[in-house]
Amino acid sequence: MEKVLDIQNLSKNYGGITAVKNLSLEVGPGHVFGILGPNGSGKTTTLAVITGVIAPDAGSFRWFGREHYAGMRKTIGSLIEVPNFYHYLDLVRNLSIVARIKNKPLNDIERVLRLMNLWDRRKSRFDTLSLGMKQRLAFSAVLLGDPSVLVLDEPANGLDPEGIAEMRDIILQEKKKQKTIILASHILDEVEKVCTHVTILKNGQSIAQGRVHELLAADDPVIVSCGESGRLQEEIVRAGLSESIEKNGKELIIILKKGMEAKDINEFAFSKGIVLDHLETRKKSLESQFLELVK
Ligand code: ATP
Repeated sequence: MEKVLDIQNLSKNYGGITAVKNLSLEVGPGHVFGILGPNGSGKTTTLAVITGVIAPDAGSFRWFGREHYAGMRKTIGSLIEVPNFYHYLDLVRNLSIVARIKNKPLNDIERVLRLMNLWDRRKSRFDTLSLGMKQRLAFSAVLLGDPSVLVLDEPANGLDPEGIAEMRDIILQEKKKQKTIILASHILDEVEKVCTHVTILKNGQSIAQGRVHELLAADDPVIVSCGESGRLQEEIVRAGLSESIEKNGKELIIILKKGMEAKDINEFAFSKGIVLDHLETRKKSLESQFLELVK
């Protein structure tokens, strides 16, 4: 699989402050990659480095296997800071200016405004828009030229619940088009609802990384290991003890039916003449660690 973005051991300091430390991550095509962390954890700094706004102190990053971001500008749409729109100009005029500056096609303005449900407001002055509309206009500017990669910093920031839901739908709509999206957020729920992969940042360092559905499983999985894992799997399924069960060599990863506990699996295995080498309950690492962090 070709990597869209490959970050290796990235570090960035501001004077004595370490903003990002030794960060590595890989983003594949079509992934929606969440960078999740509380305020000041280094999300914006990371995005600013990978979009060429600031230079890292150490480490490297590659887009599509190439070292320089400059050549990638057409492929990557980034929303890191809300662009400085002109308050007294209408939406079409504002987007025309962005398109000229960023060298994006002017004839794409209608498409992006329609996509963002702003076409009816195209003649309105920017300063007459609601905050949600302004954010959608910023998104329209990012989508000009239909880039295959989107880099978004806290896209739901400052929006009301309706605006947040709208923003989520827009991101999901782009996800459906197989775009690769890198999204920084301090809201666990936002990441859980749209991302396929996630890294959690704490003081500029990644403390957990992986697929969202693995890190955020609704229930804590029970992991058992034994010599007869195949037979135990069949017995557990036959007895209807699990919601789901996955075999990985000697190991079984089990989400138990409600009311069941890890020790019940031990007793059940014993009753079938199977001796477990190992039994543990693995905590939902993302959620528990994140809640721990933001407490
Ligand atoms: P937020 O969600 O609050 O924007 P963040 O996770 O995006 O936070 P960053 O903005 O990357 O975090 O900041 C990481 C650290 O670097 C913080 O301690 C911040 O104060 C510091 N920092 C960021 N930019 C600068 C700067 N230009 N000069 C000095 N320190 C900075």
